[in-house]
Amino acid sequence: MRLSRYFLPVLKETPSEAQIVSHRLMLRAGLIKQASAGIYSWLPFGYKVLRRIEQIVHEEQIRAGHLPMLMPTIQSADLWRESGRYDAYGAEMLRITDRHDRDMLFTPTAEELITDIFRAHVTSYKDLPLTMYQIQWKFRDEIRPRFGVMRGREFYMKDGYNFDLTKEDALHAYNRHLVSYLRTYERMGLQAIPMRADSGPIGGDDTHEFLVLAETGESEVFYDSEITDLRFGDREIDYDDRAQCQGVLEEFTSRYARTDETHDPELFAKIPAERQRVARGIEVGQIFYFGTKYSEPMGAMVDDGKGNRVPVHMGSHGIGVSRLVGAIIEASHDDKGIVWPEGVTPFHVGIVNLKQGDAACDGACEGLYKAFVAKGLEPLYDDREERAGAKFATMDLIGLPWRITVGPRGLGAGVVELTCRRTGASEELSPEAAVARVAGIYAPHM
Ligand code: ATP
Ligand code: MG
Repeated sequence: MRLSRYFLPVLKETPSEAQIVSHRLMLRAGLIKQASAGIYSWLPFGYKVLRRIEQIVHEEQIRAGHLPMLMPTIQSADLWRESGRYDAYGAEMLRITDRHDRDMLFTPTAEELITDIFRAHVTSYKDLPLTMYQIQWKFRDEIRPRFGVMRGREFYMKDGYNFDLTKEDALHAYNRHLVSYLRTYERMGLQAIPMRADSGPIGGDDTHEFLVLAETGESEVFYDSEITDLRFGDREIDYDDRAQCQGVLEEFTSRYARTDETHDPELFAKIPAERQRVARGIEVGQIFYFGTKYSEPMGAMVDDGKGNRVPVHMGSHGIGVSRLVGAIIEASHDDKGIVWPEGVTPFHVGIVNLKQGDAACDGACEGLYKAFVAKGLEPLYDDREERAGAKFATMDLIGLPWRITVGPRGLGAGVVELTCRRTGASEELSPEAAVARVAGIYAPHM
């Protein structure tokens, strides 16, 4: 992409309505624009990040054996009356009446609708296990929408649902989700710690929230500092292997890590004092096992192979896809702007031409551009008639992990400059070597 043809409405002023750094940077770098309270338009640059995050979520869900699908945002109230949640959900549910006076609603989550789909088509244990998921817009009429996309009213969420014959099978689904979530967040450059949580309106016995540590997080968290040493890394996992998935659960939940809702001061006090941490975190996902809470009232039953009709065991599993954009920025920025992790960056590399209109500089930039595209990478070429300082400031603000600077002096010596956004370190190398270096850095993310 050439910046002269792109839509990147960068703001010079710091927007006064934004209280936290990710919100400020998302507005300043032209990722989003508020449409109304808690509802945002995703401008081209922000939309690109959202898509990258969504893509990682899809890949990891599919890898775990879960089936992508899509359900409507507008749902009939009748299903929600069956489960008893139409009244229970309260003011957070956006209720709509259609022209025939029928009660509808904008989906805040989709346990009812997926259970309805299941009961219409599945009658036998032979069709189990089954896990389906969607990535779809949700609406919750939050009393205090704030912090930009972090607590919106409309937000983009991955929600997955498992159907299993037994509790044991459903707990395997739970563990599979835990593993896939660990992989998902690490690919985005995040450490998200599974913490024992409270189930809230979804209901259920077993639940973990995934929290990214950040000062601006809305949740107070308590943990044993040893937990932050754990990484899932690139280990191979067989998602059908129960013992392996269970082992990962035990490894990542063996140390104390809880939100304020489940915090137990007595247990916490048993951790050696130097390892006790009280901090704040951003909830980027949650997994639930809730057994037959929906299948029983809604009649989602199967033949168990022994002549009985039994309600299926279920769980649901969410990832805050749009919130993650803010969470990643909270975790990765400096005073100049965003610093995108390689796994989610909207463009892989920025090209800055220090002397637009100079034949040698223009030619070298075009050559770099084509070479990156040929390697399957997306460059953002700042080809505007602007001062070098302004070009650097824009690149720093929008946070591409790598920048190549092309100027007449360097070209005279056959080199360009490659700069790492995170460290600020630069090195001079030939254009070919620079392309090879950047391609090598991204190889594990492609
Ligand atoms: P919270 O406690 O933050 O209100 P929740 O526990 O009600 O969230 P879930 O039902 O677990 O949310 O939804 C799954 C994920 O969707 C959450 O982990 C979070 O990342 C995201 N999410 C929930 N509410 C919002 C919101 N208002 N804006 C943006 N993302 C949200
Ligand atoms: Mg939650």
